[in-house]
Amino acid sequence: MSTEKIPYKIYLSEDELPKQWYNVRADMKKKPAPLLNPATKKPVTAEELGAVFCDELVKQELDETNPYIDIPEEIQSFYKMYRPAPLVRAYCLEKALGTPAKIYYKFEGNNTSGSHKLNSAIAQAYYAKKQGLKGVTTETGAGQWGTALSMACSYFDLDCRVYMVKCSYEQKPFRREVMRTYGASVTPSPSMTTEVGRKILAEYPDTNGSLGCAISEAVEAATSSEGYRYVLGSVLSQVLLHQTVIGLETKTAMDKYGIKPDIIIGCAGGGSNLGGLISPFMGEKLRGEADYRIIAVEPASCPSLTRGIYAYDFCDTGKVCPLQKMYTLGSGFMPSANHAGGLRYHGMSAVLSELYDQKLMEAICVEQTAVFEAAQKFARIEGILPAPESSHAIKAAIDEALKCKETGEEKTILFGLTGTGYFDMYAYAAYNDGTMSDYVPTDEELRKSFDTLPKI
Ligand SMILES: *Cc1c(COP(=O)(O)O)cnc(C)c1O
Repeated sequence: MSTEKIPYKIYLSEDELPKQWYNVRADMKKKPAPLLNPATKKPVTAEELGAVFCDELVKQELDETNPYIDIPEEIQSFYKMYRPAPLVRAYCLEKALGTPAKIYYKFEGNNTSGSHKLNSAIAQAYYAKKQGLKGVTTETGAGQWGTALSMACSYFDLDCRVYMVKCSYEQKPFRREVMRTYGASVTPSPSMTTEVGRKILAEYPDTNGSLGCAISEAVEAATSSEGYRYVLGSVLSQVLLHQTVIGLETKTAMDKYGIKPDIIIGCAGGGSNLGGLISPFMGEKLRGEADYRIIAVEPASCPSLTRGIYAYDFCDTGKVCPLQKMYTLGSGFMPSANHAGGLRYHGMSAVLSELYDQKLMEAICVEQTAVFEAAQKFARIEGILPAPESSHAIKAAIDEALKCKETGEEKTILFGLTGTGYFDMYAYAAYNDGTMSDYVPTDEELRKSFDTLPKI
């Protein structure tokens, strides 16, 4: 254990960077339930998945036994361009809060996409290239994933077709231009370019689109084009696997200084950053080597873990993706249009859902005005303008630190700061103007949405 003063930022040298991803499923006694074919309701085979996803990624998706998976050299080199991500000791925030707690955050916003999503985008683009594909299709909601994927595809010279949720396409024209700068084509979803898009538009001509709907369009675009596969930026176990670089770096950096977090906090949309951050710590917990309190933070307007049901559900509106057992609000659930903070997916990673169901982690939900209040405070004190998604974790970390102030406990709090919020200025404007409102779905609304769950 080092007795040095902990620096503001803990960096790692190149040779301390992870050379393997960690697959937490290998250490889970009870594994997540298998993905099911939506037509037959039987576990999907690698062959079936191979029609939609890249072969190597299918292998990773189905791998529940290998704890470590090598990160190919090419991906390691790309990681070196923007990693390690700094682990920051939030001395200024601690002081401003007057808390005895020690607060650390892992900052993933230091790349052009502005979020952790690049960690998986580069891996998925690499495997697509290696398979000799021409290109990939995907959806993007807030736009970070589409941006990350377009960066990764341009690096490996792959075509990239992005279906962007319509309201976001209109609200974030600069996101779109970043993607186009990297060579991607961007289509607002629902669109007339796919059968499922035309069907949704015929039924709901005024729709603003949703992630579930954009996924269906992207899957159709991939399966109907020769040499294309579909890639997804969250939810899937392969994505969580790639994101473990976050947790592995964090663990190495903390171990270097003998720091052990008491509480680990992350925002949860589809669960990939949280899963990536906690995996190495959860592994220790599963193996009985250490214990940590782990908290997932989600928006009160889209509360899949805190108010959802643990059941098989569709991952997309068009019901073309495999069925996944997860905490879900129902694939027809639409978060309120005033919800500005991202994290709008109706379901949750199967791995995190199972860990949560086994009570190995907790979940809370927070309302958006409180989230933006925390975001503003953080920007003013720590200097970084956080993404609204990340700010859910900030809010929870501040609350835990304030609890320590009351009790006098010197807990160590670690949270994931997933990205920056420069493209979310309409949301910040609403907060600054005092026009932002909170929306919490009623039990009745959720019940209606649960009625759409498939009967398995
Ligand atoms: C996409 C995104 C999230 C949420 O996705 P997860 O898969 O739950 O990690 C959180 N923060 C930022 C900045 C994002 O771009």
